[in-house]
Amino acid sequence: MNKAEALLMKEKKYLLGNYARPDDFIPVKGKGSYLFDINGKKYLDFVAGIAVNALGHQHPAVLKALSTQAKKFLHVSNLYHNGLDADAAEVLVENTCADRAFFCNSGTEANEAAIKFARRYCIRKCGKEKFEIITFNNAFHGRTYGALSATPQAKYQEDFGPMLGGFKYVDFNDAAALEKAFSANTCAVMMEFLQGEGGGYSASKDFVNTIAELCKKYNALLIADEVQCGLGRTGLFMSHQEYDVKPDIITLAKPIGLGLPLGSVLMTEAIASEIKPGDHGTTFGGNPAALAITQVILGKVADKKFLAGVRKKGALLMKLLSNVKSDQIAGVRGKGLWVCVEMKDKAGDIINALRKNGLLTVKAGAQCIRFLPPLNVSESEIKAAVKIFEKTLTQGL
Ligand SMILES: *Cc1c(COP(=O)(O)O)cnc(C)c1O
Repeated sequence: MNKAEALLMKEKKYLLGNYARPDDFIPVKGKGSYLFDINGKKYLDFVAGIAVNALGHQHPAVLKALSTQAKKFLHVSNLYHNGLDADAAEVLVENTCADRAFFCNSGTEANEAAIKFARRYCIRKCGKEKFEIITFNNAFHGRTYGALSATPQAKYQEDFGPMLGGFKYVDFNDAAALEKAFSANTCAVMMEFLQGEGGGYSASKDFVNTIAELCKKYNALLIADEVQCGLGRTGLFMSHQEYDVKPDIITLAKPIGLGLPLGSVLMTEAIASEIKPGDHGTTFGGNPAALAITQVILGKVADKKFLAGVRKKGALLMKLLSNVKSDQIAGVRGKGLWVCVEMKDKAGDIINALRKNGLLTVKAGAQCIRFLPPLNVSESEIKAAVKIFEKTLTQGL
């Protein structure tokens, strides 16, 4: 038995089988936009840890920030100041419509906190009945009961018992249905401006205008889930910033810790003022090592030139993918360096074939192939990736 076979056997015996991983690929090292597997084979990494590794693997500034912090401490708990969270909060607040930041460990946790903060604010301001939260079909907000209840998809909710009460689900981009769902008890609308896991559907400008009007009319809050598309992915600091809207709460995670667990909730002063010491907390949230690293990515995405580069490279990726001729492709969509190709059939087999040919991609919905390169990917790496895609489709699987 070789090393890979031994490892797979142990996994199958001891690990919970909640992930479907390919057995032909065991990554052992990353460098820039590439991953190397246990056999030394090189792959272009257009998954980037599901939009987490926004600066690729082994970025020198990340390694430096991490080792510098590791020589001080990795954790002191939130009983004490850590000297790092205010720096991150400053960048996040100064580049968004928010006033204050809270740090946690993941996207799910950020959304969970957002639901609590929104309900706290509305209940205190307008009474105990104002707790209803509207979310959209096809959305993904996470896997704990609050975030899962905000995720109206059978494949995530099925047979996990009763969901948290007080959620209403509406079709994305359906303004009439949204208006019907609103009432005096509506506390918040929670949404992704570009549905990441769901397959890259963007909110229309008109729809977002309607959301803003209804939130104003009914005194409800807007929660922007920017976990996947925030922090530069679409070529803007936040994906909602191309719309004429100011969310009351913004949630962040995936790229914010560049691979270490970190999430954040940004909010207005009015909401923040309803949260007092002891009302919410976490042992690991705002971990010093993760916060040391976040300065590196925040510094990049707060830089207009860096964002312009993301938009330029995103346009190239979109153009090259749109030019691929294949009768298996139904369409290409996305924003910035979030691009997906919708296939006419299930995408899994093609994703496996792409990996065998040295390109890592990830599914969105059942039929979309997502391309999520690091934000500092080069134009030649983009060209190389699309070449592999084209070759794989034209030469058969
Ligand atoms: C990934 C994701 C989440 C959940 O984040 P975790 O860190 O996996 O808990 C929530 N919302 C969106 C939009 C996501 O893409």
